[in-house]
Amino acid sequence: MNLANVSMRKAVLIPGDGIGPEITDAVIGVLDAAGVAIEWDRHYAGLAALDDSGDVLPQATIDAITRHKVALKGPCTTPVGEGFASVNVRLRKTFNLYAAVRPVRNLPGVETRYQNVDLVIVRENTEGLYSGVENEVTPGVVMSMKVATETGCRRIAHWAFRYATQRKRKKITVFHKANIMKMTDGLFLRMAENAHKKDYPNIRYESAIIDAGCMRLVQDPSQFDVLLLENLYGDVVSDLCAGFVGGLGVVPGANFGETEAIFEAVHGSAPDIAGRNVANPLALLMSAVMMLNYLTENEGDEAFGQAAERIRAAYDRALTDGEKTRDLGGTLDTDQFAQAVVQRL
Ligand code: ATP
Repeated sequence: MNLANVSMRKAVLIPGDGIGPEITDAVIGVLDAAGVAIEWDRHYAGLAALDDSGDVLPQATIDAITRHKVALKGPCTTPVGEGFASVNVRLRKTFNLYAAVRPVRNLPGVETRYQNVDLVIVRENTEGLYSGVENEVTPGVVMSMKVATETGCRRIAHWAFRYATQRKRKKITVFHKANIMKMTDGLFLRMAENAHKKDYPNIRYESAIIDAGCMRLVQDPSQFDVLLLENLYGDVVSDLCAGFVGGLGVVPGANFGETEAIFEAVHGSAPDIAGRNVANPLALLMSAVMMLNYLTENEGDEAFGQAAERIRAAYDRALTDGEKTRDLGGTLDTDQFAQAVVQRL
């Protein structure tokens, strides 16, 4: 498509580390072929940023996200033992991206042990054990602080119920361990119950102690609709649920704050397969589709949502035709899968 006369919206692109650059190249190729009118402002974070800027999260990257409000981000690695806080956690805290959303759905042509999986994980993204407050009490005794605030618990609960209402979802289930962590998980649970009773009585609500909840999940994930979890539980349960639908190569994600949004796959930088052109770009492509839909919902430009629908239909058709990367039992390389999607646009 000739984009010469189309006004381009700017957005940040962070290629990331490990498989990040190869999957972002593949995804941008599909978006370009679909005629998406975005001019990418490319910035770096993680290992890729370290040599040039001396930091895993350079100020230039922060400034660009502040300017453009949306970013598509590949997975970023934080070097261990060099004194850097996690780049992902820093990004979430810098922009107060408190709501992480991960839709988990069966895909056509991707056979798994589970059918009818269609759930959405809403993860609190800024509190819990990700507070980063750890200390050594005395040699041989270390402590990690789990933080829950009334404000943080209330806002994620309301966010989840609002999301469920807008997306015509029927039920929210909170996973918790309030029987042990009576204060922190107790607060999380109470805020969710309050949001349900006071403001969203039409959405069904239930809670489950996380261990029993995980057992119910693996028995029959189709009984769940929206799962609301604090930070660490959300991290673990996201990967667990990815296993229902084909693995980490097919689960997208988005991180929302009040004004910025960063779209990224659930998976990490997968160093074991990096640089070999075998990673599945689909999770990042699906994250890009979420970003396009968000732009339409938030800014009213229908063209982004229409492109999102074309891309979704194209990757559904590719998968149905058996065009799959190795993680899904296929034989295609990263760029070959992207090409298969482009051919079906
Ligand atoms: P992190 O700590 O950042 O989550 P990790 O190595 O623990 O990193 P991932 O990078 O998510 O976790 O990888 C977990 C496994 O899933 C690895 O075996 C990896 O190769 C595989 N994997 C992750 N993403 C993809 C992908 N897009 N395509 C194919 N395989 C993937």
